[in-house]
Amino acid sequence: MCLSHEVLTAAYQGFLDQLTDAGLLIPSGVPGVYGHSGVFERVLEGFDQSITRRSAHLNAEVIRFPGVLNRQHYLKTSHIESFPDLMGSIHSFTGNERDHLGLLQKRADGEDWTQDLKPTQLMLTPATCYPLYPTATGTLREGGRTVDLRSFVFRHEPSIDPCRMQMFRMHEAVRLGSPEQALAHRGLWMELGKEILNAAGLNVECVVANDPFFGRGGRVMAVSQKEQSLKFEMVIPVATAEKPTAIMSCNYHLDYFGKAFGIHTADGQVAHSACMGFGLERVTLALFKTHGFHPDRWPADVKHELGL
Ligand code: AMP
Ligand code: ZN
Repeated sequence: MCLSHEVLTAAYQGFLDQLTDAGLLIPSGVPGVYGHSGVFERVLEGFDQSITRRSAHLNAEVIRFPGVLNRQHYLKTSHIESFPDLMGSIHSFTGNERDHLGLLQKRADGEDWTQDLKPTQLMLTPATCYPLYPTATGTLREGGRTVDLRSFVFRHEPSIDPCRMQMFRMHEAVRLGSPEQALAHRGLWMELGKEILNAAGLNVECVVANDPFFGRGGRVMAVSQKEQSLKFEMVIPVATAEKPTAIMSCNYHLDYFGKAFGIHTADGQVAHSACMGFGLERVTLALFKTHGFHPDRWPADVKHELGL
């Protein structure tokens, strides 16, 4: 179905108003950036613990990176080619006292003071798995690695769709190893991810998907990604039934990160990788949409699953 822009906009604004009126989201004045209430966080953390509990048998190494990425590492990826419009670069002031006075004067005069800032060594993390690969340069141990990650990520995509945030949390599981190991990990998580979401009462559908590559060249890359079935998403209606939202993704990167960061398997091949990622805020919004805004009234099995 082809939905008109107006109908979609109204659906997004309506759901956003409901969420803010209920106090679950606290608007910041910038689209896609919200505070969350204690109830929202309790549900989000309850779901996060369900992921951990139901994947404990995979014995993943747990690593936590902050939501920033070494700028040099960022530049070893092709993010700047593929998603320039989504990036976040951190700048700060590095001048002396005289420069500082100039900066303050510009601010007072309503001029553009941001031109006086300099890039720091940091970018904002575009996806939770990015900081892992540069730390894996070299040869993997026999059997490769499975790593459990969680962080905030930044994507510059301001929107009134409450599910499209600029800063949000991803819980990922990454596999580094042979092509077979990477693909097996993705296959396993397509099943397990669905199981975890179903246990929380979310009846998702699995669809083949593509990333939002930039520009005309990007359209070719998106088609190629889809043709190769590299990305699958678990979708469910959230703001509107007509345009379901992806709340989890399963990706196969081929040897892209292995090549970019010089990661090799124990037998000397370039490592392949796969990752799965739950969008924790989106899952939480899907839970509120599906079960209502009052967790104490949710089905007993869902409350039990989420420890509520
Ligand atoms: P991706 O790396 O694009 O596959 O994203 C992983 C997961 O993060 C997706 O399946 C979504 O659940 C979630 N996600 C992606 N973009 C956003 C966004 N702008 N706001 C909130 N969640 C998002
Ligand atoms: Zn990832």
